[in-house]
Amino acid sequence: MSDRRREPGKFDLVISGGGMVGAALGCGLAEQGFSVALIELHPPQTEWPADEVDLRVSALTRFSQRLLQELGVWERMTEMRVSPYREMRVWDEAGRGTIHFDAADIGEPDLGHIVENRVTRLALWERLGQLDGVELIFPDAVEKMELLGDQRRLVLSSGRQFDTGLLVVAEGANSPIREMAAISSSGWAYDQHAIVATVWPEQHHGEVARQRFMATGPLALLPIDDGRCSIVWSTSPAEAERLMALDDASFCQALTQASQRVLGGITRVGPRAVFPLRLRHADHYVLPGLALVGDAAHGIHPLAGQGVNLGFLDAAELMEVLVAARKAGRPLGSMATLRRYERARKGANMAMLGAMDLFKRLFSNHNRPLALIRNLGLDLADAAGPLKRLAIRRAMGLGAGTRY
Ligand SMILES: Cc1cc2nc3c(=O)[nH]c(=O)nc-3n(C[C@H](O)[C@H](O)[C@H](O)COP(=O)(O)OP(=O)(O)OC[C@H]3O[C@@H](n4cnc5c(N)ncnc54)[C@H](O)[C@@H]3O)c2cc1C
Repeated sequence: MSDRRREPGKFDLVISGGGMVGAALGCGLAEQGFSVALIELHPPQTEWPADEVDLRVSALTRFSQRLLQELGVWERMTEMRVSPYREMRVWDEAGRGTIHFDAADIGEPDLGHIVENRVTRLALWERLGQLDGVELIFPDAVEKMELLGDQRRLVLSSGRQFDTGLLVVAEGANSPIREMAAISSSGWAYDQHAIVATVWPEQHHGEVARQRFMATGPLALLPIDDGRCSIVWSTSPAEAERLMALDDASFCQALTQASQRVLGGITRVGPRAVFPLRLRHADHYVLPGLALVGDAAHGIHPLAGQGVNLGFLDAAELMEVLVAARKAGRPLGSMATLRRYERARKGANMAMLGAMDLFKRLFSNHNRPLALIRNLGLDLADAAGPLKRLAIRRAMGLGAGTRY
């Protein structure tokens, strides 16, 4: 099973999609001696101006940090840039309800880090390039897939062909293989789009992540280590269209107002991009010889910054399950193996998706009695010491039942 004696072109498993989740899984499995082919349409960006912050950032939890440390890439990520946030403030537009989380309350140095997606991805790809038993195949994609006994035959756009006992699908939200495999998904489009951009506030953020809930959607101001903020502004599609059409000065003015000058005025904004938001959950994560991970399996509202963190939890679980299967002599792609992964992750992801959906509905609402309950809830939660500490630890991905 180890790479050193494998036939050329034969792999223990194939991963389609080398985003953050697929690349992390590839690193972890190669570290464990599995031979891995990773197929990717778009290899990562390798260079960018030092002062440029990518539009796409993620709030990485402690769990994700520990996984990335274990994979040997965290140090490289810190060389590029990771921005810690030590506190988080959440408040509601209607009323005075507010909640404040502080890493010091639970004896941690920070609550997590804001990291550009391209930083995480590049560090993982560099590591993949150093590991034995990994073949990076790009730009390429699976064009045809056939089930032949316990093998899946894959034909790539380049004409290459593989037979594999396990295909892991990490192609993100619009996964073509999920469609090819006829795995249906449940969910719906949120009536919200998210605008992302890097902004320059007048005041330093003080390493505090801030989120204001408005009836139209939440506005997050995420701290970048040089004093800038990365914003995720979720709002109605019509309002997003209007905001995207504004010139920079008018956009800054609108953002200054929406943020209630919490960091003074917003003086400058970089390029902006907009993402339609939807909740989606695959009805199955596994089929014989196939497993979905990350956004290919689930899509969640970004309000709690959990998307890729759930994907890393999937990757960690699948690694454990595959290592155990190898030890027990069970085929990696058998349903007996893969159902263990599905059982461990599907319910946990569903619970997070449901909680975030409820949150979104509770806060994106003009109803006055509901606003009163929300504000009371925020204040009560803020005052509930031990419960609040538990909530902080769970949000950091600690105590999630894995070894990280
Ligand atoms: C506005 C916004 C803010 C967010 N903020 C956060 C946050 O703060 N914290 C957080 O945890 N999450 C956040 N997320 C979610 C996070 O970005 C996703 O959960 C994460 O990118 C999913 O990673 P992935 O590797 O599963 O998929 P992706 O990042 O989508 O990667 C999929 C990869 O597969 C490749 N691919 C696609 N199709 C094929 C194919 N046919 N063949 C080969 N390769 C293919 C793609 O090129 C890509 O590299 C946010 C999302 C949005 C929209």
